Amino acid sequence: MAASPFESVESLLQKFVSFHTVNAVISARPFPERPMLEYVESIAKAMGLESRRIPVPEGGENLLLLHRVSPTAPWLMFVSHMDTVSTEGMTIDPIGGKIEGGRLWSRGACDTKGTGAAMLEALRRYRTDGNQQHNIALIFTVDEEYGMTGTRALIANRGSLGFAPRGVIVGEPTMLRPVVANNGAVRLKVTTRGVAAHSADPSKGRSAISDMAHVIDAIESRYIPSLKTSHPLTGKAQCSINMIHGGTQINIIPAACEVRLDRRVVPGENENAQTVIGAIKQALAPVQAARPGLIVEQEVLFGCAALDDRVNRAFLPVVNAALESLSLPTAAIGAPYSTEAGDISAAQIPAIVIGPGDIAQAHTKDEFISLDQLELGVDLYLELMNQPLA
Ligand SMILES: [Zn+2]
Repeated sequence: MAASPFESVESLLQKFVSFHTVNAVISARPFPERPMLEYVESIAKAMGLESRRIPVPEGGENLLLLHRVSPTAPWLMFVSHMDTVSTEGMTIDPIGGKIEGGRLWSRGACDTKGTGAAMLEALRRYRTDGNQQHNIALIFTVDEEYGMTGTRALIANRGSLGFAPRGVIVGEPTMLRPVVANNGAVRLKVTTRGVAAHSADPSKGRSAISDMAHVIDAIESRYIPSLKTSHPLTGKAQCSINMIHGGTQINIIPAACEVRLDRRVVPGENENAQTVIGAIKQALAPVQAARPGLIVEQEVLFGCAALDDRVNRAFLPVVNAALESLSLPTAAIGAPYSTEAGDISAAQIPAIVIGPGDIAQAHTKDEFISLDQLELGVDLYLELMNQPLA
């Protein structure tokens, strides 16, 4: 076995955060993860790991690292995203990787390059000291913080992986608590179309803003109150209208008005963008009848599935056994935020979100990860690799 191409998990994480990987959409830079991906690729090569890139149709590439012990051994998969949120307004050096007070400070230290570094160090140890009972796949994804297109490409092309993972560990900062359920999301743009006219004679036009007022009322008084489903670990189904834009000039009857709404889907709701659009259409039927000629368009801006704890139930004991061996708490929890595990779970692949660091430090102006957590994260991922897979 070749010597480690990096000194420690801390120095590996310092290297990871030194790459500016602010999400492509947020930073308007194509494939910002590329330099980090190339670095991980070079590490994999030095370690003698098989590596492969998975192209993402919307842009960029995921990196897949494979450790094969035998063609018949079950596969365990680990996922960590390479992109981060914006570094704007940060009060620390976002790429400095400074270690102080038992913490490593930088954008992405906690969300979620810490989990990626811990997974890679765990894999390095597994290959020297592990029980070699499992094949391990480690995937570094792109675009988690905006469109989750990296995971979607991975799932869409899972047939070409050549294996079906027995379980997937999605790295996010959970303080090493197993997250078995999280909400999904559907985000829509709803537009009304009117007819522009001079405001000197509004009767010559049709106000898209007036139409929208009725549309908003119907969504808030009919659609939103109809959402009743709740989940014990993730809360209640939600929907809210959070942006509005309409009109072009003070003396023109507005020809268009749009709102953007955010629908939070709880596990087990079985809702996706198309069903949400259909339900909203239904809620708008009375408005449609009362306002002849009303034009309402709905466009999907984003959708990701909920993480359903019915899908990962059989995998949870494996994670709990690894936690128990380190005397860590095993109580499963839910998360209100969305993760890459949702779309993986929707493909009926058991996925659990777990990783070092605290979500409270994610996306903050002075993001950090505690080094104790980071080290414990390595131990946990190594234990997971060594756990018997049922
Ligand atoms: Zn994250």
